[in-house]
Amino acid sequence: MSKRPWGYQPLPERPDPQWSLHPQTHAVRAGLARSGFGETAEALYLTSGFTYASAEEAVESFTDETDHFVYGRFANPTISMFEQRLAAIEGAEFCVATGSGMSAMFASVACLVKAGDRVVASAAMFSSCYVVLTEILPRWGVTIELVKGNDPALWAQALSKPTVAVFIETPSNPMLDIVDIEMVSKLAHLAGATVIVDNVMASPILQKPLELGADVVMYSATKHIDGQGRVLAGAILGSFSYIQEKLNPFIRHTGPSLSPFNAWVLVKSLETMSMRVEKMSNSAQTLAQFLETCPQIKSVRYPGLKSHIGYEIAQKQMSGGGSTIGIEFKGPRAEVFTFMNALRVIDISNNLGDSKSLITHPASTTHRRLTPEVQAEMGITDSVLRLSVGLEYAGDLLTDIEQALS
Ligand SMILES: *Cc1c(COP(=O)(O)O)cnc(C)c1O
Repeated sequence: MSKRPWGYQPLPERPDPQWSLHPQTHAVRAGLARSGFGETAEALYLTSGFTYASAEEAVESFTDETDHFVYGRFANPTISMFEQRLAAIEGAEFCVATGSGMSAMFASVACLVKAGDRVVASAAMFSSCYVVLTEILPRWGVTIELVKGNDPALWAQALSKPTVAVFIETPSNPMLDIVDIEMVSKLAHLAGATVIVDNVMASPILQKPLELGADVVMYSATKHIDGQGRVLAGAILGSFSYIQEKLNPFIRHTGPSLSPFNAWVLVKSLETMSMRVEKMSNSAQTLAQFLETCPQIKSVRYPGLKSHIGYEIAQKQMSGGGSTIGIEFKGPRAEVFTFMNALRVIDISNNLGDSKSLITHPASTTHRRLTPEVQAEMGITDSVLRLSVGLEYAGDLLTDIEQALS
């Protein structure tokens, strides 16, 4: 029996299956590029550079005549495995991974616009996305119009003028506002706009914006994709033409690259993502229903509750309510803080989408950068908490909330 030579001999390619694979099979298999060692798990290629067998091969690599890796800012085998796997789960032609959710968000819009261009966005969104759209891009001459809520007439009015990009966050962070992706996409395309959806809160499991008519999807992979509180990362998914013609020329030179180590963590996280997200979403549904019955609580915002203003649209475009709940207490901030401090299992933290349940007071932390007026517009008051439901036993979370309320 001959031993396989170290590293140099690629394994024979296995033929792709003749049938179309389920996203969960893609979550475990897609993008897997084994080296000659035949390792079972995805390898970590912790390298910034690559070598060439000859000067001629280097030239060919730089002129794109081969698919030889060139430099970590452009591509890396471990990052590429993560990108291909996420693209297969999402049903997107292409994926580009970035170092954070915000670098993904910024690049997804910035690669499309120039001075004088117009962007339309949903008014309720994560505070850093809000700052990029309303403060940073306007410095470079981009105009921005925000649309409140989901009224088709308001969206049609905003999109009655030529528009380059439409950015929507649905559900929104932290108050879980819902925008109809199909309705906005149709109107946006009439205005000539590229539709970008921040799909962080729903995750790739519960909502498929591309199937609903959107052009581009972006993620903070820090949230449900890692889902275990370890790494910061982002991703942008879309068509071959968007990625090749718009995004890549921007991103290759501005450099928001993901670390191969973080990509290696994430490629394994994708394998368990659907199980984690479904479990978290089911527990969140149970807790949201319980919270609605508590006399100390004024209102509960959760897309899976019939009382949610966007319930019908959420039913249409999401396959679960998600892992995050917005809770408005009747009492003032002091009472809300007493509740937070009394929790024994649920941690006080500003992250979300984690296996550990986390509670946040957005007005004083994640969304403090926004003015009180903008906070009020988004429904973020001093009495509001955001609960990210994790993977603990739901009964224990319920008991924890019950004891902290009393
Ligand atoms: C967290 C978050 C982001 C930013 O992601 P980072 O990985 O923290 O940079 C963007 N959008 C939404 C909706 C988020 O929740």
